[in-house]
Amino acid sequence: MIRRPLIAANWKMNLGRLEDGLALIRAVRPHLSHLPNLEVVLCPPFTVLAALSEVLRPSPIGIGAQNLHWESSGARTGEVSAEMLAPLCQYVILGHSERRATGSTQETDEAIRVKVLAALGAGLHPIVCVGENLKERERGETDEVVGRQIAAVFTGLPGHRAVRCIVAYEPVWAIGSGRAATPADANRVMGFSIRLRMEELFGTDASEAIRVLYGGSVTAANIADFMVMPDIDGALVGGASLDAAGFVELARNANV
Ligand code: PEP
Repeated sequence: MIRRPLIAANWKMNLGRLEDGLALIRAVRPHLSHLPNLEVVLCPPFTVLAALSEVLRPSPIGIGAQNLHWESSGARTGEVSAEMLAPLCQYVILGHSERRATGSTQETDEAIRVKVLAALGAGLHPIVCVGENLKERERGETDEVVGRQIAAVFTGLPGHRAVRCIVAYEPVWAIGSGRAATPADANRVMGFSIRLRMEELFGTDASEAIRVLYGGSVTAANIADFMVMPDIDGALVGGASLDAAGFVELARNANV
């Protein structure tokens, strides 16, 4: 099974003014459109999603949102639904640790599960983030935590819908810290706690089709070491996606 490598850029709460997002896209697009072995997806803030979606429409670069609400419409001040996003983008990041129960918005596994269902129902590809925090890692609970997060989202999902998801293994202690996991360790967790769990839930074909990304302090300097690992299909990139030249170099180095 050939899984197409993917680099997804999580801009977080950055480049939210149109001129800033446009400047980055103008700088990276000529270089990223000619990487045949790599899919690149940019996930900007909501404020510029619609405008950048228009700009990127005629290019092979994909676009994603960073969150959604599970209901389709109604009295939900400040929220954006999957139906609203579907005409604008193909992907949506869900369950990022900055939004989970340990993050700023106290999102539970159940909230993430219903968001994934809403995204799939609207035809979006969810990028589902999982990963242990430092205390959990130090207590030796990595596999238990990641396995629980996977089970909470994927149990009960039909296999043909699960394969439309992408999973991002993002150890919380590696995010924005400059301290990436070692490629071998990330690959072990991704193979054992993610792909094997998927095999148990959906069978071999589905588990071999699902793309699994690593995220946490990925840079142009270390991406190639992750890409050669058998269970790593790409990366979710935060800080290193905000600098045009650095992101182009990262994507080139990922295109192995
Ligand atoms: C992220 O927050 O998804 C992330 C991977 O951030 P960084 O690359 O900055 O560690």
